[in-house]
Amino acid sequence: MLIKNSKKVVIKLGSSTVVDGKGKFKKKWVTSLIKDIKKFRGRNDLVIVSSGAIALGQNYLKIKKKRIKLEMNQAIAAVGQIHLAGEFQKLFDKHKIKTGQILISPDDTEQRRRALNVRRTFDNLFKLKAIPIVNENDTTATAEIKYGDNDRLAARVAQIIGADTLIILSDVDGLYDKSKSKTVIKTVSKIDSNISALIDNKKNSYGSGGISTKLDAAKICINAGCHMFIGNGKKNSPISNMMKNKIYTHFIPKISSLDARKKWIISSLNSFGKIYIDKGAAEALNEGKSLLPAGIVKVEGTFEKGENVLVVDENQKGLARGLSSFTSYEINKIKGKQSKEIENILGYLSKSEIIHKDDMVKL
Ligand code: GLU
Repeated sequence: MLIKNSKKVVIKLGSSTVVDGKGKFKKKWVTSLIKDIKKFRGRNDLVIVSSGAIALGQNYLKIKKKRIKLEMNQAIAAVGQIHLAGEFQKLFDKHKIKTGQILISPDDTEQRRRALNVRRTFDNLFKLKAIPIVNENDTTATAEIKYGDNDRLAARVAQIIGADTLIILSDVDGLYDKSKSKTVIKTVSKIDSNISALIDNKKNSYGSGGISTKLDAAKICINAGCHMFIGNGKKNSPISNMMKNKIYTHFIPKISSLDARKKWIISSLNSFGKIYIDKGAAEALNEGKSLLPAGIVKVEGTFEKGENVLVVDENQKGLARGLSSFTSYEINKIKGKQSKEIENILGYLSKSEIIHKDDMVKL
């Protein structure tokens, strides 16, 4: 495993790894993880992304119901998150390791300026030698603006801080090969249809993830140049076990020449809209040129300036992802037009690239 050679490592803990069946924080298990961390960490910077706020909150508030409304879950998470962070703080403190809490909403990672701020906060916590303990800001996140699972959140954090390794500890040994019962696939370097076919969407009683969100996380990591491991976190000393037994799935990243900004663009969770382009524009994109209005045939969705959009050909095949310099409303007005006509149509002087080549990544 690469944990020793990595400069920055993110460890993601699923709810069922930190909270037991009775809704109690698993102190013994977390202590064994802390010991593992001390053993293997070396000099690297470490981040913990932990779920468990809702599970702990339910237990504390004595709520047994399984189906709970989102608004109520937000309140339960507010109660549980204090306990979750407090438990981590106490245990790390016993081992003389400082911690800090970061609660993240999708806006914090999906808007470039905020993502840079998030990165700075992480960097400063590393300077203070404190381990950031991260969770989604469940108390404000509504259904439409929610990660909902910490797998993708952990991957996006890994990408934004430039981590080399993400370890996802959950209640499975890794990605199982369906054709051979209970055999874990050792390495994956591409999430193709064979790999996606392994999704069985089984979920445990607490977590909101499953294999599907773990594969989404793996896609982000593969593009971001970050190694990702899925390993079993049921038994104590999970990292030692993974190293000793060598049972885990390792997702190997692409060797990428993309800079940090382009890695961020390609790993965006969602696109706000689609821009359809003609053959000529597709050829120009292929040669690494910017996207001009002349080659645009259609716009789908509503988006603002600077938002992430997907560029597709007339058959809907994805060609690129990029940050639009114009709103969808403006593009609708200037699509198919020559660049010199833009000022006249929109009534103000602006740039002529709809998506500049520096803001675009080919798929
Ligand atoms: N953020 C949620 C919590 O702390 C869990 C999300 C997940 O299961 O990944 O309870």
